[in-house]
Amino acid sequence: MSRLACMRAVTRPSIASRFLATVAPTPNSRSDAPPTRHDWSRNEIQGIYDGPLLDLVYRASTVHRQHHDPSKIQLCTLMNIKTGGCSEDCSYCSQSSRYSTPTKASPLLEVEPVLEAARKAKANGSTRFCMGAAWRDVAGRKRGFKRILEMVREIRGMGMEVCTTLGMLTPEQARLLKEAGLTAYNHNLDTSREFYPQIITTRSYDDRLGTINAVREAGISVCSGGILGLGEADHDRVGLIYEVARMPEHPESFPVNALVPISGTPLENNERVPHDTLVRTIATARIVLPETIIRLAAGRNTLSEAEQMMCFMAGANAVFTGEQMLTTPCSPWDVDKEMMGKWGLRGMDSFEQKNVARKEDAAQCPIKIPTGTG
Ligand code: SF4
Repeated sequence: MSRLACMRAVTRPSIASRFLATVAPTPNSRSDAPPTRHDWSRNEIQGIYDGPLLDLVYRASTVHRQHHDPSKIQLCTLMNIKTGGCSEDCSYCSQSSRYSTPTKASPLLEVEPVLEAARKAKANGSTRFCMGAAWRDVAGRKRGFKRILEMVREIRGMGMEVCTTLGMLTPEQARLLKEAGLTAYNHNLDTSREFYPQIITTRSYDDRLGTINAVREAGISVCSGGILGLGEADHDRVGLIYEVARMPEHPESFPVNALVPISGTPLENNERVPHDTLVRTIATARIVLPETIIRLAAGRNTLSEAEQMMCFMAGANAVFTGEQMLTTPCSPWDVDKEMMGKWGLRGMDSFEQKNVARKEDAAQCPIKIPTGTG
């Protein structure tokens, strides 16, 4: 038994027995952190979610401190590199060609303006750069995909973490992205398996899981979360967390978006998700996915500073910052820097998240790096 595992056995017997371990924590975690579980039942997660809110936040905050530096927030900048004209029917999205929205279709950007945007993001303190293309999938887009591979290569060469969201991927496309240096791939499950067909009909939940599997198999970190405010119920938010909690490897990143209703989409009249629901979801995700980065994503600009701080207390530790989200407004760098300075928060370094860094190391080194201490 390793020294850390031995310490856990001696000093934390009650936790060890209460939490049925399936995987030991990564080196990101403190030695007193309970092992990460992958055997959650939906009822257990629902029980956590339904707890008194302040108790829930306290518990989430404790788990957060066991697995992360609570003073660190990952700053990520998002760029839409191919806007609109998408053949999918995601009811919340202004980029679907099925709806008449203010978002106009435009072709895939050239490499240089994207690199320029990445340099600017880096100069402003962002350590992850994410590029989104409004595509159903990458099939039949040979030239465009080649251009994206070049963007990935160049941005990774700047020392930044690179993420893309390009729709469904085949294992071969995932492999090529990994070879180019891709750090993470975003593919959200959006909501629970049962509620999903009310939001999207043009691809299934299992299609999405297939892409997530291809990304995993290629050794790329997974970024997969959801959107609140779609009209879902509490048990759907729990269902989403349950779905990722049961994965053999949790997503390294779990984005929590608050729907920004866009005129012309079927969800244009949806009400803003209540703040306590957002906090409850973040806190539950933090407890169930202790090593994952919980990303406060779209809709953050509608939150007051105090509301954002409550999200950070509940375990959120990444934001999108810069000029624009894919189609909705974003909090700018200077506002975020001032806010973070005031509250004693700092930006994360690139690859500070150990379970992400380990994947990079594994790509460069034929020797497998151990996945746990126990
Ligand atoms: S969310 Fe993505 S896949 Fe769905 S319509 Fe928008 S761009 Fe297309």
